[in-house]
Amino acid sequence: MNLEQQLNEITGRSYGKNIASCTHVQLYGSILQLVKERIADAPAITGDKKVYYISMEFLIGKLLSNNLINLGIYDELKDILDANGKSLAEIEELEPEPSLGNGGLGRLAACFLDSIATLGLPGDGIGLNYHFGLFKQIFKDHLQNAERNEWIEKLSWLENTGKSCTVMFGKKKVTGVLYDIDVIGYENGVNKLHLFDVEGVDESLVKSGITFDKTKVEKNLTLFLYPDDSDEEGNLLRIYQEYFMVSCGAQLILEETKAKGYDLHELDQHVAIQINDTHPTMVIPELIRLLTQQEGFTMDEAIAVVSRTCAYTNHTILAEALEKWPLAYIEEVVPQLVPIIKELDARVAKKYKDKKVQIIDADERVHMAHIDIHYGYSVNGVAAIHTDILKKSELHHFYKIYPGKFNNKTNGITFRRWLLSCNRELSAFLTDTVGAGYKKNADELKKLLEYRDDPAVLDKIYAIKKEKKAQLVSYIKEKEGIELNPDSIFDIQVKRLHEYKRQQMNALYIIHKYLEIKGGRKPSTPITFLFGAKAAPAYVIAQDIIHLILVLSEIVNNDPDVAPYMKVVMVENYNVSYAEKLIPACDISEQISLASKEASGTGNMKFMLNGAVTLGTSDGANVEIHELVGDENIYIFGEKSDSVIRHYAKADYVSREYYEASPVIREAVDFIVGKQAMKIGHKENLERLYEELLNKDWFMTLLDLEDYIRVKDQAFADYEDQQKWKKMMLTNIAMAGFFSSDRTIAEYNRDIWKL
Ligand SMILES: *Cc1c(COP(=O)(O)O)cnc(C)c1O
Repeated sequence: MNLEQQLNEITGRSYGKNIASCTHVQLYGSILQLVKERIADAPAITGDKKVYYISMEFLIGKLLSNNLINLGIYDELKDILDANGKSLAEIEELEPEPSLGNGGLGRLAACFLDSIATLGLPGDGIGLNYHFGLFKQIFKDHLQNAERNEWIEKLSWLENTGKSCTVMFGKKKVTGVLYDIDVIGYENGVNKLHLFDVEGVDESLVKSGITFDKTKVEKNLTLFLYPDDSDEEGNLLRIYQEYFMVSCGAQLILEETKAKGYDLHELDQHVAIQINDTHPTMVIPELIRLLTQQEGFTMDEAIAVVSRTCAYTNHTILAEALEKWPLAYIEEVVPQLVPIIKELDARVAKKYKDKKVQIIDADERVHMAHIDIHYGYSVNGVAAIHTDILKKSELHHFYKIYPGKFNNKTNGITFRRWLLSCNRELSAFLTDTVGAGYKKNADELKKLLEYRDDPAVLDKIYAIKKEKKAQLVSYIKEKEGIELNPDSIFDIQVKRLHEYKRQQMNALYIIHKYLEIKGGRKPSTPITFLFGAKAAPAYVIAQDIIHLILVLSEIVNNDPDVAPYMKVVMVENYNVSYAEKLIPACDISEQISLASKEASGTGNMKFMLNGAVTLGTSDGANVEIHELVGDENIYIFGEKSDSVIRHYAKADYVSREYYEASPVIREAVDFIVGKQAMKIGHKENLERLYEELLNKDWFMTLLDLEDYIRVKDQAFADYEDQQKWKKMMLTNIAMAGFFSSDRTIAEYNRDIWKL
């Protein structure tokens, strides 16, 4: 059956109609069904050894468009729909976004699943089936409100497998049920994302916003994703979630391995478990528990084989994000794990006297990362500079013991979503210019460098950027009700809101620019400053920063002296779908974290691939972008990580000194509590932020502000030289191949999994 016949057959079967007479909603349902049927016909990926990528977050985003691309039927389907007077783009909008992650860490997991399947490697994801994804962000009165975010509809990618397992929380028995989402590789076979849910979860427990009755775990465990991406929240429910996931996951892994006829004593020959940050760490003691209590292993045997099976990825050096659970909490949630953890701790204590490498510390807190490092066979950072910092400082004591375990795997992004799907115009042009090979071998993008001096190619890249800007302008008009100038420079900072990412520094630049324009110094080309960011609801200063940006947006956009030259927009509810619209339209990519604090970043890679030029610090993968494109094609500013780390060690950074020494800084900071801002905003929020910047500023905003202003102004000035700018765009696209997650996954496989 050809594609059109198949779709007509499905619409007929489901709705008694042909394609032309279906509504878009009906077509959405029918295409979903069609994709499922095609996937069912695709081969499962098999092999002697399999990786399980276990993660509390999979920020998968919408799946329809990507699945069509990976099945190789996107264009054909689009043509069929066009011929029937239907719009695939509008149908795609109907899909709810599964936001089963907070930000970069969860998005990475999703990109990795795509690449694992694309490379034809046997590998499944293991996670939780949150009924409500990351909260929906609503702005009211210049403040963020958090609402629940439903995504599970009758028609969905989830398949109930009918499989279940039992998880014991002490004496309380909870049944886990398994849902699967198919992961189809690009022109390759199928793996699975396994999402565990609690039987009998009760959505009616959710009252207003995102608050709910936290006492009945058997009914609420999988209701919500924790909305803190870089803070360990000392909540028991989080431990319940983590243990539930790893226990279900461990049981699944052992069952699958046994079902294939393998001896569990050789688990490491057939299984690799990649632990995504410390959240799934309890999989280590849980596997040991299952092997010793149910499979007849001795403790020595179990510890040995599990330690050869599990590998750990570290994602952060922020101290507040490293999980350290009080042993008493674990005792309350999963008493059966405590003897195992104590045994693991005792073995470490016997061998190593250094206090810094113990699992249970003097305050009876369990350092989850320490379990991973001692009882896993690999520890990796996520960008070269991050891995260096782990080795040299954060995990130095462990590096001395286990130098061979440490390795770097610079993050990557799937080009299927972040180029082929979100920027069909650019990807089609690249195919015409360098051939289609780059879709599977991203390095081939380098061929584009041969066209560095070809005006036709340069013009076309620039024209595509214009087209994507125009598309974004109409989307923002519709969503936010704000009119933007497609001929302005699009300067974009989208990512979670966190002080270390320094959205507040960007806001201070905007104040500075506003005051300059008020003073008559107008930019040659108008500038549009775009933000998108959710803040953890409990993170007060982050809320204040959002407040400031929304207040600035109101001031700037309504000032007739200024609005023709600059606009400020913070889009509501930034998520993967919004990212797919913003990133292709960007001219300047803001990657301005305090050096040493952003482990890698992946947003930076998405922007680069779509022809934006990075304005950034020497942090995370920015360092590698810089090395690839050279000084000429990136804007780097600010203090380097070594000197930032020295400031922390010496505690010698005093933000007030920077404020007092610089009239430019003073003027911008004072604006936060000036008449204009106070008239629109809230005294409490603005004053708190002002005080924070002057008296604490833990992430050193004022340290780099002057250099930031200088280099950013240089970037805007350079934009005037169109020929120069176009070449920068081309170079960035051409050199982005390194950041394909296919490369990252090939390295994980070569060095860690060995599938
Ligand atoms: C890529 C991505 C991120 C990560 O962005 P960073 O700039 O690396 O922090 C966060 N959220 C969404 C929706 C993304 O797509």
